[in-house]
Amino acid sequence: MKLSILANHCHVFPEEVRPNGSVSRLLQLMDHCGITQAVTFAPFAYQLKGTSFEGNEWLEKQIRTEKERLIGFGTIDFSSTNIAAQVKRIADMGFYGIKLHPAAQGFHLLSEKAYEVYQEAEKLGLFLSFHTGIHWHRLQDYHVIHYDEIAYHFPKLKISLEHVGGYHFFLDAVAVIVNNSRVREGKRVSNIYAGLTSVFDKDKNRYWYLGRDKLLDLLWQVGPDQLIFGLDFPYNQDDDVFPAIQTIKSLGLTPEQEHKILGGNLSIALGLENGKRVKET
Ligand SMILES: [Zn+2]
Repeated sequence: MKLSILANHCHVFPEEVRPNGSVSRLLQLMDHCGITQAVTFAPFAYQLKGTSFEGNEWLEKQIRTEKERLIGFGTIDFSSTNIAAQVKRIADMGFYGIKLHPAAQGFHLLSEKAYEVYQEAEKLGLFLSFHTGIHWHRLQDYHVIHYDEIAYHFPKLKISLEHVGGYHFFLDAVAVIVNNSRVREGKRVSNIYAGLTSVFDKDKNRYWYLGRDKLLDLLWQVGPDQLIFGLDFPYNQDDDVFPAIQTIKSLGLTPEQEHKILGGNLSIALGLENGKRVKET
């Protein structure tokens, strides 16, 4: 059976803003690396400052003709006050989730505005992917332990901790995932996923690097049902993605476990059926 890969975490940009981060560049990378489908993130508002683009509108147009391969996640502009309306608009545009980066976007994970996002996203069934791990911003705003509080208040909300806390907060992230897991039908499951993104290269991704031993620890503590592979495109390109896939394939997993990590888990979490969108836009 040929493995079909659905990868999370691809930031895409208008060509004029970031030439190596365009949608066509991503599609090339996917063809090259054997990736069938990918989740694309709209640029953050601050990344489009000084241009005439609105990130979510732009992404929706970009992926309209690539629905078989590209799934959209929106972003929130925290400088504005209409947070719940922005979340609703993201769902109305046919997106499946939201990418959030508390350090880069400058919001506290437990702030009022953030809670508005969680509440509306939980109601509308949107998946949230968060950057976790140090990012040169006051740690108090985005400490990984705060995700336990979010899970407590929004038990139906599905979220991924991208980079699994990074090198420095790996164990905090594992604690949050396991603390919120429950036994269902004989399996231990959680609505909090570990995002295996930029965790494979010791030099290039030094602050998020986990390496083989921590990946095996994750399988032991969390299990294969909670792990989701991501690219971190365009910061990672073909030469980074190839070895990342190889690392996952070298962990001694069964084909079924490999399939789960390389897209099966994400597909279920997003409510896709056989990789197809069940939601119509
Ligand atoms: Zn990211």
